[in-house]
Amino acid sequence: MRFDVLTLFPETIRPYTETSILDRAREHGYADIHLHNLRSFTSDKHGRVDDRPFGGGAGMILQIEPIYEGLKYIVDQYQADNRRVILLGAGGERFTQPKAKWYQEHIDHCVLICGRYEGVDSRVEEHLADETLSIGEYVLTGGELPALVVMDAVTRLIPGVLGNESSLAKESFQESTEGEYPQYTRPASFAPDTPHLIRSNAESQWTVPAPLLSGDHQAVAEWRETNKRR
Ligand code: SAM
Repeated sequence: MRFDVLTLFPETIRPYTETSILDRAREHGYADIHLHNLRSFTSDKHGRVDDRPFGGGAGMILQIEPIYEGLKYIVDQYQADNRRVILLGAGGERFTQPKAKWYQEHIDHCVLICGRYEGVDSRVEEHLADETLSIGEYVLTGGELPALVVMDAVTRLIPGVLGNESSLAKESFQESTEGEYPQYTRPASFAPDTPHLIRSNAESQWTVPAPLLSGDHQAVAEWRETNKRR
């Protein structure tokens, strides 16, 4: 899967892509991530990429021209079989786990356009983007975190990326899977020593449920089934 991100702040995205799963996915050739600074695509001699909204109103709007030029550059660079151009926007369609799975299965090139300021000239949504995706009902400062959310959620679904495919089956929101259940690790019993840190009704000793410590696979499976989250 190839990702190209058009952003005013590539430096805010890069460190995350160079860490942990995304970094491993890049190193092993599962994901190819390219970050492009929108300012490289403006013809304005001062490097401006935004302007005031027609009709008046607060804030600045990212102009269509640098986004269009950036997209042209990206599309010229990579011949994709199934490309999807995604504008990140709070009011867009909700990005969900099934959507991440659909992308992983059907798309080989994802172009992510990150908005800033008051937003993006609407012609991007009307004429360039295949869809606008929102990661939730809140407004963030820019599309960089949403772009990372999309890249992370999609990349970890690529077969081979996690190394152990069975861990995917046990995750939340997976269709036809075992589902997510509470998990614990050592120590089997933990005694907190700072009373002000814990809820007032908490017990003084926090112990892992007995069936998980029993060594009895049937008891473990039954406990997990009963305590599944979703
Ligand atoms: N005026 C816009 C509105 O009311 O929806 C908010 C613009 S926001 C400050 C700047 C950019 O951040 C947006 O253009 C979008 O790219 C991104 N953004 C903010 N919240 C987002 C969300 N929940 N999901 C996806 N992108 C988001």
